[in-house]
Amino acid sequence: MDHFLYRDGALFAEDVPVAEIAAAVGTPFYVYSTATLLRHFRLFDEALEGMEHLVCFAMKAASNQAILKTLAQAGAGMDVVSEGEYLRARAAGVPGERIVFSGVGKTAREIRTALEGGIRQFNVESEPEMEVLNAVALSLGTVAPITIRVNPDVDAKTHAKIATGKSENKFGIPIARAREVYAMAGAMEGIDVIGIDVHIGSQLTDLAPFEAAFTKVAELTEVLRADGHDIRRLDLGGGLGIPYSHSNQAPPLPTDFGALIKRTVGHLGCEIEIEPGRLIAGNAGLMVSQVIYVKSGEGRDFLILDGAMNDLIRPAMYDAHHDIVPVIEPAPGTEERPYDIVGPVCESGDTFAKQRMMPPLAAGDLVAFRSAGAYGAVMSSEYNTRPLIPEVLVKDDQFAVIRRRPTFDEMINRDTIPEWL
Ligand SMILES: *Cc1c(COP(=O)(O)O)cnc(C)c1O
Repeated sequence: MDHFLYRDGALFAEDVPVAEIAAAVGTPFYVYSTATLLRHFRLFDEALEGMEHLVCFAMKAASNQAILKTLAQAGAGMDVVSEGEYLRARAAGVPGERIVFSGVGKTAREIRTALEGGIRQFNVESEPEMEVLNAVALSLGTVAPITIRVNPDVDAKTHAKIATGKSENKFGIPIARAREVYAMAGAMEGIDVIGIDVHIGSQLTDLAPFEAAFTKVAELTEVLRADGHDIRRLDLGGGLGIPYSHSNQAPPLPTDFGALIKRTVGHLGCEIEIEPGRLIAGNAGLMVSQVIYVKSGEGRDFLILDGAMNDLIRPAMYDAHHDIVPVIEPAPGTEERPYDIVGPVCESGDTFAKQRMMPPLAAGDLVAFRSAGAYGAVMSSEYNTRPLIPEVLVKDDQFAVIRRRPTFDEMINRDTIPEWL
């Protein structure tokens, strides 16, 4: 469910016409709905009611501080994967005790920043990382709270680039070696073992892989407790998928996910953490773009947009589908025709959709990419010296630019020329 609907023939973001935002900020741009962000966060929060829990937004999905603040004010914690994300979350007002630090390559410096600034826990992914964490904690005279991320060797049945829970993936420690690694952690003075972490992948559209993983975590909890570890927190990761196409079958809902958690680990009395990213932000954002040209090719027509792969890379990177809709609603009965929808970047990979059925469009028309709120703006680049596009947040009938488009001078002046030139 989202808050981007047609009203009187025009696409709205909550109570703001999308065309009005386009007129104010220029295209292309991202626009997010506060109501959708909050609705999705609350669905997870409510799904875990009755268990002590914290929903930590995986901010790599959408890390603008206005989004973080919106969610944090509703009670969300944050899952960060870098020092930059940690500092960004703190800048948005998220207290350290609501931030968990994930990722396979935390450096000593990143660890120090988080320990000094305050952190809920590190999700440790390897023994060498644990040794560094222990050393840094001892050097600061403190103790680092940790879970250890276990790799349950479960096939998440998602795109290979976003599957993380198979034994061949770089993430976590093999679950078969968990007792050994927990024993090592238990003996470290700078480490406080508080729980177990698991995250098996992204855009999962079936609960079965989650069930397999959570069941293994439940068994491991009992084993580790018997070994003398005080396992009191389970971080069950994120990964629940969203419907990218309105014609597809809808994936399971947060309520189903919550019920599965209760069923698989509820009896253990642990505090539960989850780290959803995509499901909170994905359908809460559009990328809006303008048609520059309609070009007739050999047996096909190209819609050339001002948005490109550097602005939204998911189609090029993950073969992802985004529904693309005109901002002016087509009259009922309008005949659709196939277009190849492309951007201006000098690569054939800069193709958003092939032979997509659309109502007839002309230069100057606006289109909106749906479900672009997660892994959209955060993955954008300045490839082809194209400015990062603005982000806009809507709340009821108000909208605000939450990241403005840089000027060409700002972009160009970031380079420095060596003296010898
Ligand atoms: C990416 C990631 C998430 C979020 O995944 P979504 O599919 O966006 O819900 C959660 N936890 C970790 C450790 C991640 O790397």
